[in-house]
Amino acid sequence: MNNRRNWLKQVSLGTLALGFSPFETFANPRSENYVYPDTDKSPILLRSNENPYGPSPLARIAMTKSVNSSNRYGWNLYPQLITAIAKKNNVSDHNIMLGAGSTEILDLVLQYSALNKGNFIMAETTYDYWTDPFEKLGLKKITVPLTKDKKNDLPAILKAIDSNTKMIYICNPNNPTGTICDREKLISFITEATKKAIVFVDEAYIDFTKEQSLSELTVENKNLIITKTFSKMYGLAGARLGYAIAASSTIGELSTLKSSPNLSVSIVSAAGALASLNDEKFIQQVYAANEEVKKYTIEQLTRLNLTCIPSCSNFIYFSLENYKKDFFKQLEDHNILGTKIYEENGKWTRITIGTMKEMQQFIAAIK
Ligand code: PLP
Repeated sequence: MNNRRNWLKQVSLGTLALGFSPFETFANPRSENYVYPDTDKSPILLRSNENPYGPSPLARIAMTKSVNSSNRYGWNLYPQLITAIAKKNNVSDHNIMLGAGSTEILDLVLQYSALNKGNFIMAETTYDYWTDPFEKLGLKKITVPLTKDKKNDLPAILKAIDSNTKMIYICNPNNPTGTICDREKLISFITEATKKAIVFVDEAYIDFTKEQSLSELTVENKNLIITKTFSKMYGLAGARLGYAIAASSTIGELSTLKSSPNLSVSIVSAAGALASLNDEKFIQQVYAANEEVKKYTIEQLTRLNLTCIPSCSNFIYFSLENYKKDFFKQLEDHNILGTKIYEENGKWTRITIGTMKEMQQFIAAIK
């Protein structure tokens, strides 16, 4: 406790001396970037929707301390983390399974859905990096266009379900468009669709909204699986920690596909995640900063005559149709990493919301 107090004191004194708000200094200075150590000037990372401020101060302390126990397995720590996650999501411990990032959960649900051959359905423009193995596992991909306002088209997805459909993926909020489904409509959709197939809802970005997770619905519905992650709001992308929420029987089924469920998580990541769940102040600060910087960035992009989709996340989807220069060259020349064109029609791209300073640099770069 004393160490923690001293640490926080040091951080506060250091930040006051530098004239920053204490919160800003939790952001990794670019000159100390461990992931890009070889570049003279590490890039501004606006590509992967990471949290530019995290990990949280409490997570940093817990992770640093836990390093000394890395010679031990985390048998005693995983149940504590599972209990804390279950509590946060208003479910029981047996409704949770941990993964090394939600990517492990995505892969697992993919394998689970492919146990019986057939097809799976997702929006045409959504988070789909994880779906390549589907074909190999014998599942055919069916895509459904987004609505005009770039939302998951739930009625159209419902219509696309046939007797061979094994799984439907709904990213909510949707990556890359940042749109969210109306809660009541999504619940009705789930009620209908889970009569026929597994509905897999990815809530990686739900913490950037005021919306409540659908976690509680899983308890009574064995065909609904939700995945969440510590990579975004909690700033632990590199630590790799995500989880599944499902009915206990479904968690049991998923567990049969793993030799040792939960064991892919390191104790350092588990300790960081556990501490993060208690760092409410940090979460509120990240939420507020993201809202403020999002507002600024959308205003600036709109001034440049670039249409933006209202965002319920930590990234912005916008159209380059009216942009006269080579957007990606501008980014490259200014050492900024962005993404790609997701939809040719309208030239839609996505940018992650970094710190205010980073977004000011981004806007200056594309002006
Ligand atoms: N789901 C969505 C919608 C994402 O955008 C990402 C990463 O960007 C992931 C899942 C995977 O995240 P992780 O494996 O870090 O939890």
